[in-house]
Formats: sequence, structure tokens, C-alpha cells
Amino acid sequence: MSTALVWFRRDLRLADNPALAAAVRHAERIVAVYVHAPEEDGAWRAGAASNWWLYQSLARLDEDLRRRGIRLTLRRGPATRELAALARETSATHLYWNRLYDPALVARDTSLKVELRALGLFCESFNGALLFEPWDVLTIQGQPYRVFTPFWRAGQARLDTLPVPVPAPERLRGPAPRGEPLEVLGLLPHVAWDAGLAKTWTPGEDGAHARLLEFCDDGLAAYDEGRDRPDLPGSSRLSPHLHFGELGPRQCLAAVRNAVVDRPVARSSAETFLRELGWREFAHHLLHHFPQTTDAPLDERFARFPWARRAEWLEAWQRGRTGFPLVDAGMRELWATGWMHNRVRMVVASLLTKNLRQSWLAGARWFWDTLVDADLANNTLGWQWTAGCGADAAPFFRIFNPVLQAERHDPRRLYLRRWLPELARLPDAWIHRPWQATAPVLDAAGVSLGSTYPRPIVDLAASRREALDAYARIREPVASDR
Ligand SMILES: Cc1cc2nc3c(=O)[nH]c(=O)nc-3n(C[C@H](O)[C@H](O)[C@H](O)COP(=O)(O)OP(=O)(O)OC[C@H]3O[C@@H](n4cnc5c(N)ncnc54)[C@H](O)[C@@H]3O)c2cc1C
Repeated sequence: MSTALVWFRRDLRLADNPALAAAVRHAERIVAVYVHAPEEDGAWRAGAASNWWLYQSLARLDEDLRRRGIRLTLRRGPATRELAALARETSATHLYWNRLYDPALVARDTSLKVELRALGLFCESFNGALLFEPWDVLTIQGQPYRVFTPFWRAGQARLDTLPVPVPAPERLRGPAPRGEPLEVLGLLPHVAWDAGLAKTWTPGEDGAHARLLEFCDDGLAAYDEGRDRPDLPGSSRLSPHLHFGELGPRQCLAAVRNAVVDRPVARSSAETFLRELGWREFAHHLLHHFPQTTDAPLDERFARFPWARRAEWLEAWQRGRTGFPLVDAGMRELWATGWMHNRVRMVVASLLTKNLRQSWLAGARWFWDTLVDADLANNTLGWQWTAGCGADAAPFFRIFNPVLQAERHDPRRLYLRRWLPELARLPDAWIHRPWQATAPVLDAAGVSLGSTYPRPIVDLAASRREALDAYARIREPVASDR
């Protein structure tokens, strides 16, 4: 009887999993394996919130596999060594996995494939994470795209050619090789800070599908307006499920298209939602073609940008104590739940990189450690876009004003009151700019600036001007570049 290894990575699902489907097609016995090898992630080793999610998701995957007749074998890396050993122990002849695009993992997988093939193992990898491979969508000159709109136009033209998602296999058979217990991988925090995460999320394939269905039923029709409202459950909140591959983008596409069949009113929202999935594709396209951008700006002029490097400002931002309520609310939402609304991500990133002139990498690192959806492609794009140094970036002079952003996107100030209880009694007119409120207004709300809530750490108008001056200095190429 032939045996195949299915190497699970960030594709922690059984439905629409091309590697698993190939294994089931070609072998009678399946060994499902996860190899924990954080040192192979390179400089971007998974952070604490990601590890929390990974623990839960592996536990769910193991349960789902057991219900079908096999279990998840956990091993500790190096990956090449463990997969070779497992193939020997189980007499497996085939190894299947779904591709990842983080530069360090691409390098690891490339050499792993060569080494394991040399040992006689048949190795094959698949696309389980993206609608299109990053190298399949190119300009007519055969170059990578740097601008989103034409990229997505080219991508959209291919949507109808994508394979239909396949259901999970009903039964699986296979040996039960030696494995490690999940607890020894050290994924959970030593100090229990994770209660908010557990209250907010249901990791695992079932949780992902429940979220997708709920979004298609209740959220999709209003997504066009709701997606920009941090006070409402207006976006899908599928990002950590997509990052860990508990759900694939093809499944999202199918579910959304299905949902609009009977509800033509939701069509425009469905297009907008698919466009956001398009940004995810674009982020992976950029990561593949410009792998240096995880650590260096795509726009090389920004290598000379005079960042301010003020540790106390970075810390105030991290702790949600900048004195700008929308920023502080976002940073506290992030700390409590491991997630932050997209609009607020842009506002906090703009304040950090422009008004506070801290390097986008410092912000990206903090997000990396605290987000449950921390994703090297999306995070790099998000930070470089907001800082103005990436592909198709927001122009540098677009500096988000946290006061105006709160007025526009949190009209009833519900988001601010949820995350900043110390300001909750301030009237709508002042809660997003308490430093401009009069003493009687502050007194009546029990707010004492500098004591119960910080004063703004910079002046918005002056720091904006300083940022623009700093940008003007790098705009022109230096003499030696000419
Ligand atoms: C500074 C900054 C950092 C970010 N870091 C991450 C990150 O580490 N991981 C991450 O998944 N997203 C990141 N984003 C993108 C975006 O904020 C999140 O994907 C989104 O908030 C997730 O919420 P949702 O699932 O409700 O999104 P929805 O609006 O429901 O969108 C559906 C899906 O599309 C994808 N998507 C949406 N917006 C974007 C985008 N701008 N770029 C790439 N993909 C997108 C996500 O997979 C998302 O789940 C970042 C954005 C910024 C501005």
C-alpha cells in the first residue's frame, strides 16, 4: 500500500487543500505532519499572538483529522531532517505540501525539495494560499506590477478560470508514527495575557467557515459602507483564518459569489470585498518579486529618511498613550484582541511614521508580535504603503489626521468609548480631541489631562510640517545617484 506525507504549514484545513487532495488521489495511507521549525523563519520568526493562534489551530486540525481516522503528527525541526526521518519510519514514497511565499521559507523549501528528491522521495508542491501564483500575473512586458489597479484588472480576468474548491475527504487511513505533544512546542505564553484573544476568536477550520458564512449572511450586503467603520462589525475579520490557511481565497470567492446570486443588491459590496482579496494577492506578488522589501523600503530614497528614533514616543504609541484617542483606541484594541480595524491601522501607522517620524520597520515589528493575522506580505505592504515608501503607496503628503478620521469613521464615537473608558463621559464633540475641550467640560467628564489621559505627545500641525520637510530632503536624488 502506498503512503504519502502531507506536510501542513499555513494551510491548516482539510477542505480545498490541494496537497491533501493530491495525497488522497495517489496514496492509500496518509501521514499528516506539522514540523515546528521557527528558526527556519529567518528574521521574521512568528510573534506571540501568531503562536497563540497556531496552537489553537493545530489542536483543531488534529481533532478534525482524528474524526476522519488519522491524527496530526507533530515534529520539531529541522524540517528536512524530520520529513526524511518520517518518510523512512512510515515507508512513505510521496511528500506533498502547499507553497508559502516568505523569502526565508522559499529558500528553505527549495533546498529541502532538492535534498529529499535526492533521497528518492517524490515531492510536489501546490498553490493553496492564493488565487494566482505571484509569477503568473505579469505586465505585457513580462514585468511584475507595481500598481494595484492594473494588477487586479489582470487578476480579475482570470477569476473564472480558477478551480472549484474541493470538499474535505470523508475518511483517511494511515499509520500513527511517533510525534511530540502540542504543549512541548512552547507556543502558548508563560504569562496569561491571552484571555482577550480567546474571547474574540475561534481558530480552526470550523471557526473560519462559521465566520465566512456569518459574513456572507449578515455583513456582505453592507460591506461597501461598513468596511470603513471601526465602530461596527463591518468587515469580515477573516484575516487570521486566511493567514493560517484555515480558509482559502478560492473558498471565499465561491461563498461570496454564491451569496449574491439571490441578492443582487450585495453585488457592489461583493466586488469591493473581492478587491480586498486582490490586495492580499498584490501583497504576495510584491513579496515574491521584491523580497528585500520585508526589511528595506521599495522606494530606495527612503533609505536616507531622517527617522527621529525616540524610544519614548515608540513606547507611548505601543501602549496606546499618545494622547490621540483614535490612535490609542486602535493600539489598545490590538493589544486586547490581536487585531485592529484596517482604517485604524492606517491612522496609527501614519501617526507613527509621519508625525512621530519613527521608522516603519519599528511599527511593522510591533504589529508582527501583536497581530493574530501578522502576515509578512500584507504587513510589509501595509506599512510601506502608509509610510509612502512602497509600491502604489499613498503619496507622502497624505498624512492622516486622527481627529478628522475619528469624525468621519466613528461618527457616534462608539469605537473610542469602547477602548478608552477613561474618556467615555466626554461629549461626542470632544472625545476625539480632548486637549481642545474646556476645563469645565473635562471636569464634568472626570478627565484630567496628563493624569487620567495623556496630553498629545506632539503638535499635529507642527509635526506634519516637520515630516514634509524631512520628505523634501530625500525627494531629490543625491548627487552621487545622478
Ligand atoms: C499598517 C498595516 C499593517 C497591516 N498588516 C496586516 C497583516 O499583518 N496581516 C493582514 O492580513 N493584513 C494586514 N493589513 C491589511 C488589513 O488591515 C487587514 O487585512 C484587514 O484589516 C483584516 O480585516 P478583515 O479580515 O476584516 O478585512 P476585510 O476588509 O474583510 O478583507 C478581506 C480580506 O482581504 C485581505 N485584505 C484586506 N485588506 C487588505 C490589505 N490592505 N492588504 C492586504 N490584504 C488585505 C485580508 O486577507 C482580509 O481578511 C495591514 C494594513 C495596514 C495599513
